[in-house]
Amino acid sequence: ENIHKYYKQRRRKLTDKNKYVKAVHGVSFSVKEGESFGLVGESGSGKSTVGQVILQLTDLTQGSVRYRGKDVASFTKRNLKDWRKKVQIVFQDPYASLNPKKTVGWILNEPLTIHKMGDKYYRKNKVLQTLEDVGLDDSYLNRYPHELSGGQRQRVAIASAIILNPEFIVIDEGVSALDVSVQAQILNLLKRLQKKYNLTYLFISHDLNVVQYFCDRIAVMYLGEIVEIGKTEELGTSPRHPYAEALFSSILLHDEEEKRIVLEGDLPNPADPPSGCPFHTRCKYAMNVCRVTKPTTSFFSGEHKVSCHLYNEKDTVRNIT
Ligand code: SF4
Ligand code: MG
Repeated sequence: ENIHKYYKQRRRKLTDKNKYVKAVHGVSFSVKEGESFGLVGESGSGKSTVGQVILQLTDLTQGSVRYRGKDVASFTKRNLKDWRKKVQIVFQDPYASLNPKKTVGWILNEPLTIHKMGDKYYRKNKVLQTLEDVGLDDSYLNRYPHELSGGQRQRVAIASAIILNPEFIVIDEGVSALDVSVQAQILNLLKRLQKKYNLTYLFISHDLNVVQYFCDRIAVMYLGEIVEIGKTEELGTSPRHPYAEALFSSILLHDEEEKRIVLEGDLPNPADPPSGCPFHTRCKYAMNVCRVTKPTTSFFSGEHKVSCHLYNEKDTVRNIT
């Protein structure tokens, strides 16, 4: 709810105005149990920061994170420790998250030991069962991460994320480093695990094809803000925000090439974001009001929301031809 995350810039001689990088600026959304919620945007849009704030891997500047209705900031130490088991993260690069000096067996056993889960026999069984869950067998127990393929390493990273029986997993560019055929295998694995264990995913990616395939709902981020949010079908077939429209047009098929919208200009500096609507410097529909006033959120059907002056709350039909 209303998440802000500002980083202090290190460089000297900065004016007060751009002392802070506004990585995330007033982001609100909720993820429903059992769904895959996609956060999509260019690199630098703040999507990874949102994931890290939710998991309390970094402090938030303003706003709150609630889990099953309870403010995470109000958790006692004990509650926080229990909660840490329920929420996990899978990163793009398993090299960075898997200890290169340890075997797969050790890596998977470690979280069980830390959280004092069961006895030795329980842990051994749990490791074997989890390996099986991710499509690997006991022949992997004594292997090291560098002996595995990219896809196998990501399977181990997923195994270590699910071994504590979590409820919620943030997948941050979890398949972005993999070949397309391996990507599909890992996405299908994640779907199978979701069904089997009733997992909820926050799926962060710059790859719209993957997000569209995988997610039930999508939020599009631009410069630290959510500009549009809705069901995957709604956004996929009729994105409303001009940025979302351009983004989705980039994955149109060849026979629709003429509908493609190419964005002009670069992503503005998050330390010095544009006034008014953050997208106005690149928006072909930009009006005077866009340069001055930040748009409020308008609703379409149900939960489909957009932040853009082309729409207003009463009349959600675009006022342009
Ligand atoms: Fe474009 Fe204005 Fe809408 Fe921003 S508010 S996306 S500048 S039309
Ligand atoms: Mg990122």
